[in-house]
Amino acid sequence: MTARATTTWISGPVLRAATDAGFLMREAVAVGEQRLLGEVIRVARNEITVQVYEDTSGLRPGDPVEGSGRLLSIRLGPGILGHIFDGLLRPIDVDIGDLDSAWVRPGMREASPSRFRFRPRVDVGDRLAPGGIVGEVSAPDSVPDAADDDDGSAGGRRLHQRCLVPPDAAPGEVIELADAGIIAEDAAICTLRTDDGREYDIALSHHWPVRLPRPAAKRLPADEPMLTGQRILDCLFPIARGGTASIPGGFGTGKTVLLETVAKWCDADVIVYVGCGERGNELAGLLAEFLELDDPRTGRPLLDRTVVIANTSNMPVSAREASIYTGITVAEYFRDQGLDVALMADSTSRWAEALREVSGRLGELPGEGGYPAYLSSRLADFYERAARVETLAGERGSVSIMGAVSPPSGDFSEPVTNHTRRYVDCLWALDVRRAQARFYPAIHPLTSYSNSAAGLARWWHSEGCTRWETLRRRFLTLLEDEARLERMARIIGRDAMPVRQRLTLICAQLINQAFLRQSAFSDIDRYATPQRQAVMMRLIGSFIDAGDKLLEQGVPPEHISDAPTFRAIMRMGEEIPEGDWERFSELDRELSGTVRRLAEEHVRST
Ligand code: ADP
Ligand code: MG
Repeated sequence: MTARATTTWISGPVLRAATDAGFLMREAVAVGEQRLLGEVIRVARNEITVQVYEDTSGLRPGDPVEGSGRLLSIRLGPGILGHIFDGLLRPIDVDIGDLDSAWVRPGMREASPSRFRFRPRVDVGDRLAPGGIVGEVSAPDSVPDAADDDDGSAGGRRLHQRCLVPPDAAPGEVIELADAGIIAEDAAICTLRTDDGREYDIALSHHWPVRLPRPAAKRLPADEPMLTGQRILDCLFPIARGGTASIPGGFGTGKTVLLETVAKWCDADVIVYVGCGERGNELAGLLAEFLELDDPRTGRPLLDRTVVIANTSNMPVSAREASIYTGITVAEYFRDQGLDVALMADSTSRWAEALREVSGRLGELPGEGGYPAYLSSRLADFYERAARVETLAGERGSVSIMGAVSPPSGDFSEPVTNHTRRYVDCLWALDVRRAQARFYPAIHPLTSYSNSAAGLARWWHSEGCTRWETLRRRFLTLLEDEARLERMARIIGRDAMPVRQRLTLICAQLINQAFLRQSAFSDIDRYATPQRQAVMMRLIGSFIDAGDKLLEQGVPPEHISDAPTFRAIMRMGEEIPEGDWERFSELDRELSGTVRRLAEEHVRST
């Protein structure tokens, strides 16, 4: 029997209702005649408090609240890939040019099921455990047997999904099984009989409560990088698969461009992009680009392996609060199929503001900055769901999280930035001055960090970049020295500085301009493979060594920076494309030649 209550009080997205029925905490409810979607967020003796995920205008005391008997859940299935949803995974019907006016029909629950090609991987009589693989799922127009040699990754082909036994279901024996063929997402494909004789059906899709982390067999160490194609990230502040990064930055410093660039080029199988409280037209631009962009991994539009969750600034504020959990639940669903997932959230500050607004309506005691006292633990709950795991089916999958933070007036000491810092592995701090100088990505090399670098050195080593860790440290040290010396240079002037310090400034300039600077809009440089990054890193390393050597021989550092080779290395990012290793080698040879020539000239002149 469904529980019922009667609305007594409404304030924005929050309402109270009188009841003597037993509602569950976090139960999904239908509110009013329009059956608006809500969630029970507080249960008292004769009253429940409900957070409504739609516009509550027009509701009034007396309106009915009807329970559903289950926790607020979303339906996870193959149909979500390549689509755009609101914060509760309800499909947004959208003309992409017009996201600002996109809306979800009031009371709308979930996407209507679509059809997929299913191919069983078990037989009648087999035993299946929770999270076990029932079969392969692909688009209905895909080649029927293409799944044969597919390992689940997107390697050059269309992504094949899996149908799994829901992780919270009981183990059992397969007693009925659909044949390979095309089938609706919600139709039964398999019936299991549990040990105690119960029978239940499995479909291609299943429901899962958004706030409940999906189980995995175990967490795996973070020793594989999630490559972003951005040199400053992959080489200086790398994120591991299953890792977390926070991107704080004031208005216009490049948070959105950075998240989008990483979404486009990172080596994840699936992208979950949560547009949270930011402008609708920005997200519309992203969608248009993702539709156009041919994905290098599959040769199809990038949008095909992306899930967009949109709660732009014009949509109800409480759905924004849920969107973060919806996003991470969707990400875990793909992780459980043995895929690597990257989740981008832009911006977690807008999410925290939604939390603050709802908390205020509830009359909770405000903490720092007006945010509720549980802000910190909510942030922890979110970031802790990032992981690289062994799935229940014994495969490997991961969810990596990157969240933008927009601190008001760029002040990084505010609560959201501050608390987030405690829970992430990497901080990619955007710097207003770098952005103003149009130095992109405007990630500041001294205020940013990565706690994952040590664990990833071995991976770079195995890829043949044996000096990765050494060069990384060298670069960071030079950049630190630069900051100190720049101050001195401003006081006493560069010319008055000792040669060693002048050389440091030249090397740091090279690292900044030739390596860290990378335009998201350059056809050649918007993305760099680890091979290209390693070659560039080595070349700059050779320059630094050459500078040291010449200095020992008494050659002034300006002789090196005036040489054409220096300028050529400076421009290599924009000029030498992926795969043109010969030109990189040529540059290396030129550098050795220049060093020899400068040394000889110097000997002759003294
Ligand atoms: P935010 O989201 O932090 O407010 P945006 O990401 O919208 O800022 O960036 C503002 C502008 O800065 C962009 O429109 C673009 O012109 C420029 N920009 C930011 N990042 C880059 C980048 N990596 N490469 C080139 N231009 C960039
Ligand atoms: Mg932005």
